[in-house]
Amino acid sequence: MIKAITGTKDILPSDINKWLHLEEVVRKLFTCYNYKEIRTPIFEDTSLFARGIGEETDIVSKEMYTFIDRGGTSLTLKPEMTASVVRAFIEHSLGASQPLNKLFYISPMFRQERPQAGRFRQFHQFGAEALGSQSPLLDAEMIQLPYFIFKELGLKHLSVKINSLGETEIRDKYKKVLRDYLSDKIERLSPESKKRFETNILRIFDSKDETDIQLLKEAPKLIDYLDDKSRSNFETVKQVLKDSGIPYEVDTQLVRGLDYYTQTTFEIVSSKVGSQSALCGGGRYDFLVEELGGKSTPGVGFASGIERVLLALENEDALSLPERNVDIYIIRIDETASKYLHRIANELRNQNLVVDFDYLSRSMKAQMREANKFNANFVLFLGGEELERGLFTLKNMKSGKQDMIGINTIFENIKEFLEKLNAAKTT
Ligand code: AMP
Repeated sequence: MIKAITGTKDILPSDINKWLHLEEVVRKLFTCYNYKEIRTPIFEDTSLFARGIGEETDIVSKEMYTFIDRGGTSLTLKPEMTASVVRAFIEHSLGASQPLNKLFYISPMFRQERPQAGRFRQFHQFGAEALGSQSPLLDAEMIQLPYFIFKELGLKHLSVKINSLGETEIRDKYKKVLRDYLSDKIERLSPESKKRFETNILRIFDSKDETDIQLLKEAPKLIDYLDDKSRSNFETVKQVLKDSGIPYEVDTQLVRGLDYYTQTTFEIVSSKVGSQSALCGGGRYDFLVEELGGKSTPGVGFASGIERVLLALENEDALSLPERNVDIYIIRIDETASKYLHRIANELRNQNLVVDFDYLSRSMKAQMREANKFNANFVLFLGGEELERGLFTLKNMKSGKQDMIGINTIFENIKEFLEKLNAAKTT
């Protein structure tokens, strides 16, 4: 039997309500902040990610799904969205018509990581990118947005970690300081960190190795080297978070895996999802647009993993979603009623009611069982004899009460029917 590829997951009808609810909350919040949705292709030219994310990052060096298509072009399934959004921003000159573009997305992403709880090879992210302003108010907004989304969904066990990486020159200066500090400790570093010492020294802070962590405890902190502008922006971010009631901690070792960050970086973690605890991450990237060939434009954004958010909701038992019940299940008593079946069903569906009936020519008892399984609010009995008299029976499944209703109230006076239905619902 052919099965789904390791690290990918079917989202079954029994799960879909959670997804739809989350997407609705996400869309609602982004809309209130006046962010516009953007959708980009699933695959891009490989060089976009190699240049945009950085050759030395884990994503580019070992996690991308890259393939050569039949025309000989190297393509990659998008592992994250920022590079794609920036590409689209440049390609369509979005900055020319709008000085500040506030964009959001909901999209699948692909990374060949080792699958485990909360880590998949095809996963989904919602996120935002604001292109065109250096205001730290936007940095703060990128923390507020996911935080408020998580809160609205019902999550409680969250912590917000923030840091500032300063401007590029500051970071370059600091890298030297860190290199000096670690130079007589190299031999004690883990093999991965030894490699990072040469290729991308800041990433050493992402190491989970105990010895690395101990060695880094006493290391000089980047935040102590910040330039005035970065320091004052960071203060503004903190103040906005305070004013909006968002608790945070400054994590001076939060560098995040991607190369393009400058100044603010942040993560929101949940204590309820095990080792893969980051629900979202993001930061400022003031040089990426230029790096990818566009006019110098500052940017800031975040991305949040939907599977992880849903896992946190499940583990916190925080999500209770009412299913949309079947409003009316039509029970066909005999074949002579068939000619009315579709007309009545369609008339009712046009009124935005959820209507279903039996497609399998089952017995009345089996049809009733089906109506119960769907939690139908009402069943409507359609029999030839009743219809000859211009009437049918409507049964309220909650109260058991039955009413005779004239067929004309559906075909000619649907308003009256809906009023009766609503009245019946509450009695
Ligand atoms: P990143 O783009 O690596 O900063 O990730 C942003 C967010 O996406 C993380 O905080 C996770 O919630 C989620 N995420 C990243 N990689 C995966 C993955 N392989 N599986 C599931 N979620 C992921």
